[in-house]
Amino acid sequence: MTAKLLDGKAFAARIRAQVAVHVGRIKADFGLTPGLAVVLVGEDPASQVYVRNKGQQTAEVGMNSFEHKLPADTSEADLLAVIDALNADPAVHGILVQLPLPAHLNSDMVINRIDPAKDVDGFHISNVGLLGTGQKSMVPCTPLGCLMMLRDHHGNLAGLNAVVVGRSNIVGKPMAQLLLGDSCTVTIAHSRTKELAEVCRRADILVAAVGRAEMITGDFVRPGATVIDVGINRVERDGKMRLVGDVHFASAAEVAGAITPVPGGVGPMTIACLLANTVTATCRANGLPEPSDLTV
Ligand code: NDP
Repeated sequence: MTAKLLDGKAFAARIRAQVAVHVGRIKADFGLTPGLAVVLVGEDPASQVYVRNKGQQTAEVGMNSFEHKLPADTSEADLLAVIDALNADPAVHGILVQLPLPAHLNSDMVINRIDPAKDVDGFHISNVGLLGTGQKSMVPCTPLGCLMMLRDHHGNLAGLNAVVVGRSNIVGKPMAQLLLGDSCTVTIAHSRTKELAEVCRRADILVAAVGRAEMITGDFVRPGATVIDVGINRVERDGKMRLVGDVHFASAAEVAGAITPVPGGVGPMTIACLLANTVTATCRANGLPEPSDLTV
């Protein structure tokens, strides 16, 4: 391997430490404890693990953690009533509804019911619009974490060619917006893109958010490029379940200048950025000075 490893685990630990300092200051100076509410509908095992991790890390940085676990057959009206109550609760500064929701619930309607000021996932249509027009918004956690890592590695991103593979509302599109905001020349690729490997080889920064295990091999990578692997895929290897990214790490790391591993890359940054967004939301809601080191 010749590429530099971009260690998201260590970076996320630094962000959590910064968050803890800000939480301590907000408590001491303003008598406020930032609070994050997570709403989980149903029994999806992966979602349960995510929610448990979020709750633990929220408590570790000194914030209040509120968990609302609802049965899989919860009606839309009941879920919206929970969100309304959280919107009205002054102890709650951030609200996250764990996705995916069961099929009978309309995710867009549910997400758009969250008070945009408490929308720490940055998925509310108001925040999407603010980000798209370059205004101050809540920035989706995974792309925020990716941008922080890229800025940390490159410094200034202006003028770099960035290719984002994936155009989801959660990762691909906001990632592209953030890179554009940092003056990259941005290409968004997707399942209908022709000559994908050739498109990717133009990238100084290649972000893979595809959801296909190890699809992006070394042939897709320009020598010296920075590769950010957002993918989380569970695959069976040698009789054991393992996590792999959307990037074929071994071959890509031979060509790239820098690369994020899976696990230990983007994944830990996502929860750290959720905590950071909760501090940002607390400060904005209460007219407190906003920490510049927790957002972009
Ligand atoms: P989606 O399934 O919503 O989107 C996948 C995107 O990849 C789509 O835009 C799709 O194109 C594109 N795509 C699919 N197949 C191909 C292909 N063969 N060639 C080119 N493009 C393709 O996934 P998400 O954006 O939600 O997630 C992407 C990955 O990131 C997943 O592995 C997910 O688990 C992971 N993830 C990780 C997070 C973290 O914290 N690290 C957080 C969120 C997601 P089209 O639109 O044309 O269908």
